[in-house]
Amino acid sequence: MIKPFRTLMWTAVATLLAASMSYAGGINHRPDHTTLAAKYRPVLLERFLKYTTYDSQSDNDQDITPEQIETAQKLYEEIKALGYKVQLTPHYYIYVELPSNVPYPTPVLGFSSHYDTTPDVPGKNIHANVINKYDGKPIVLKNGHVIDFNSDPYLKQMIGKTVVTSDGTTMLSGDDKAGVSIMVTLLQTLKENPKLKHGKVQIVITPNEDVGRSADYIEETPYRPDIAFDFDGKVNGDVTVGNFNAEKVIYRVTGKNGHQSHAAENGYRNAWAPACELGAACAREEWLPNNSTGNQGYAELHHMNMVNGQMSQAELDFRLRSFRQSDIDAWKDYAQTKADAIAQKYDVKIEREVFKQYQNVAENVHPMARKVADNALRRAGVTPSFKEERAGTTASMLMLKLGKGAYTIFTGQQNAHNFTEWLSEEDMFKSYWVALNMLDEVASQREPDPIPAPSHKPGYIIPAAR
Ligand SMILES: [Zn+2]
Repeated sequence: MIKPFRTLMWTAVATLLAASMSYAGGINHRPDHTTLAAKYRPVLLERFLKYTTYDSQSDNDQDITPEQIETAQKLYEEIKALGYKVQLTPHYYIYVELPSNVPYPTPVLGFSSHYDTTPDVPGKNIHANVINKYDGKPIVLKNGHVIDFNSDPYLKQMIGKTVVTSDGTTMLSGDDKAGVSIMVTLLQTLKENPKLKHGKVQIVITPNEDVGRSADYIEETPYRPDIAFDFDGKVNGDVTVGNFNAEKVIYRVTGKNGHQSHAAENGYRNAWAPACELGAACAREEWLPNNSTGNQGYAELHHMNMVNGQMSQAELDFRLRSFRQSDIDAWKDYAQTKADAIAQKYDVKIEREVFKQYQNVAENVHPMARKVADNALRRAGVTPSFKEERAGTTASMLMLKLGKGAYTIFTGQQNAHNFTEWLSEEDMFKSYWVALNMLDEVASQREPDPIPAPSHKPGYIIPAAR
């Protein structure tokens, strides 16, 4: 009687031990990448400096700029030369997929970044200025631009470290060449160190982020990760875990043309009185952005249009922002009730059109994302600072398209869209290290049940070379 019971007990103990070792476990079970990461640190900076010489400005009025096409092709060639089967889509998204090298199902890990730069500041002929062992003095650039502790208090923490700026005649383009450098250096690291364990990894580098269109053609790629991180954040430790939901609501008021003097007989109806009443009803003082802070959203009447100069047509454009979709839905219910009543009162037609702009990533994020980020940062010696952004992010645009939320990770870029843009080399390096750590953090997330392979369209899957 005794023997079988003991055997049973030891079997249970052994099973539990094995499970705890192969399963998530503590962060102590993860490999230490200190030496490996340090080896690639100079490579990462060198790559970043090379990318700053690529002009890749996006443009609000063009689908894609020739400069972006050229940059996308250079990146495509570089990743191909590393030995990967890389995909360049018809709309110049760069996509690489690495098959899992662990013998069990894991969540699919996604990384994103963007190679375009803002059209708001000159971005041609960037001359990066590398300051080693920064001494704490104001950094004086051409054209009277100065970066100092007043303009950038975070710069104080860079004393003794490496800072990169432009020469003052252009931006630096750390937004988001830092993220792109991290992605490509990670690919190089994985190719040169095939023993590094990871589940399936999908990497996408997008165009047009700085003109708000980075998600427009994401469907061209098979990028459908379960757990995803966007590398486009700023200060060391920053992880953006939430952002506004954003909708644009257009109300169109249609009256009827005719001579005003005989409106009673000919049915002439001016659209402006009902439009103004609807505007006033739906842009209440307590909803204005004026006093909205913290986790409070807002709703404002952004502008009103007279359509084709006609008295009988008016258009109201409302912008709604909230961390909670329920707030936006409640506003829309209220506005619709008002619109119906006003339409009846003035004998006009009022129609509504809703445009979803971006979505809070927190509404559908992988349950392990926070833990993965937390462990990955701490293992790189970084204290995580989880934040919510009172705006949209690339991740929030991807969220709207793909329905999966991603966190945004710091990359060391500072003061983006400015002549005084600068980069903390150390923060970029730490971010790369975090990405490296995320590979085995996710590889240790054995899925309890095998997950079915994502149903990509045939012909779109291009597995990595090895
Ligand atoms: Zn960016």
